[in-house]
This record gives sequence, structure tokens and C-alpha cells, in this order.
Amino acid sequence: MERKIYLNGVFVEKKDAKISVFDHGLLYGDGVFEGIRSYSRKVFRLHKHMERLYAGAAAIKLNVNMSIDEFESKIIETLRINGLDDAYIRVVVTRGVGDLGLDPRKCSLPTIFIIADKIVLYPEEFYEKGLPIIIAKTRRISPQSISPAIKSLNYLNNILGKIEATAAGCNEALMLTIDGYVAECTGDNIFLIKKGKLITPPSEIGALNGITQQAVIDIALKRGMKFGYEMLKPNDIFDADECFLTGTAAEVIPVNKVDGKVIGSGVPGSVTKDIILAFRELTRVDGTAY
Ligand code: PMP
Repeated sequence: MERKIYLNGVFVEKKDAKISVFDHGLLYGDGVFEGIRSYSRKVFRLHKHMERLYAGAAAIKLNVNMSIDEFESKIIETLRINGLDDAYIRVVVTRGVGDLGLDPRKCSLPTIFIIADKIVLYPEEFYEKGLPIIIAKTRRISPQSISPAIKSLNYLNNILGKIEATAAGCNEALMLTIDGYVAECTGDNIFLIKKGKLITPPSEIGALNGITQQAVIDIALKRGMKFGYEMLKPNDIFDADECFLTGTAAEVIPVNKVDGKVIGSGVPGSVTKDIILAFRELTRVDGTAY
């Protein structure tokens, strides 16, 4: 079945889902987006995603001309129209159509679209064996240049990291801050397990506040595990007992090697496996039903 796309108030066929070449989302990457998943007709933490989208839009002074409630119901409608029980949903709000200058005031109406489809990010074998990653030479953009909390349409920094990963025969790359601290991967947050403690870098240094990251923290705290946001250097990863990545598309995926160095025992550890199972259970219950 041809997918139906929500575009500026109407549902159109995929082949008709087109936007103007004068859209500032395209001309300048001026806009924000979300990647959301639904599991068995439940949208996982939908409201958290929408809060992040609206906070990002506010941070770039982009007025989403629709209430969060209305937006959420459009997402649900998109899922229903496409008859999808399990889906990956892409929500995009751009500055809209303007002229060839940067000035966002020339764009009177934002462009809003919602795509509901399927996604497979990494081959299944990596979830069982662990994913090898590299450390990219491209450094994460400084939080003083653009807040890492804004999930903006400007992903070139991440794409450069991804290109390095694929050139090295890997699927994902870890990005460091300008000062050499561990920030996040190109499309995922990173976690370590050290002596039973769960550790992830703080968002302020250059990582997105991941919805999956928060879900994993919730799981760990509920289990009484020790947890902390900590500044990490690559050596902390090499010394870790376990390492895994989180993201809406990736879910929770173990890491077995970083720059060719084996992490922990080289196979997914018991804490990671436990968290993967708990996350799967959470996705069955924690969501907006449709
Ligand atoms: N970091 C970056 C740069 C991302 O693009 C994403 C989303 N793909 C994440 C982390 C993970 O965030 P979430 O769990 O909210 O999808």
C-alpha cells in the first residue's frame, strides 16, 4: 500500500508529498524534527517527543501554528490511515517557504509533515553480538554554537561522523566534544557500565536529551542501580565493563568494540541484556494507544 503522508493539514500520497525549493528547511536546515516509534498500536512516550519538539522550536523562535494536542492527534491519525501497528514516525517542522535570504521573518507559515513508515537501523546480528563503532575525528559542534538539546534539521556534523564510520566499515561513530570528552554517537546516546554503575554523559556538553536514554535511566533507577551523568574520556570506555547505545530507531544496542578495542568481555554483558529486555517490556506498556 502506498503510504499517506500528512503535509500541511492534508493527507497526500507519497508521490505527491512535495515541498517548495524555497522552503528554508531545505535551503538552510532551518527547522526541527522528531523520530518516534509505535509498538503494537502504542506510541512510545509520544508526549515527551512532542515536548522536545516544541521546546526546540521555541529555542529557534519557530512558531508551530498548532497546539501539542492537535499535533499528537494528527500523528495518531497518520498511523491509523496507514494501518500501521508498529511504526517509525518522522515529524518535521520547517521554517517554511521564504525568499533566498536567511531572514526567518520572510517565512510566514511553517511547513509541517508527518511520515509513518518502518525502519531497520542496524542488522539484527549486531543486537546479539554487539556493534563495533569508531571514534570520529569530526568533533561535536560546541553547545555554545547550537544547543545539543535542539533536534534541528542541521545534521551535517553528525553526517560527517557517519561518513567516517562507514569509511571504516562501521555503522556508527562516537563523537567527542572539542575538549575530547565523550558526547554521543551520530544518532544515538552512549552508556557505560562500570562496577555495576550506569553512566552517560550530561547533555550540556553536547548530547541530545534522548527519550530512549531517559527510559533506560528510569529502568535502572527502578531496579535500584547506581546511576550518574559523568564527563567521560575515551579511556573510560576502553576500561568499561559494558557499553551500549540508545535511540528511538536503534532502541538499545550493545557495543562490542570501539576503534577495534574490545569492550568488556567482547560480547553483550548481563546488565545490557537485562536492560534490553526491560526496555522491550516498557515499550509494550508505556505509550499512547491508538
Ligand atoms: N543523539 C542524536 C544526535 C540523535 O539524533 C538521537 C535520535 N536519533 C539520539 C541521540 C537518541 O535520542 P532518542 O532516544 O530520543 O531517539
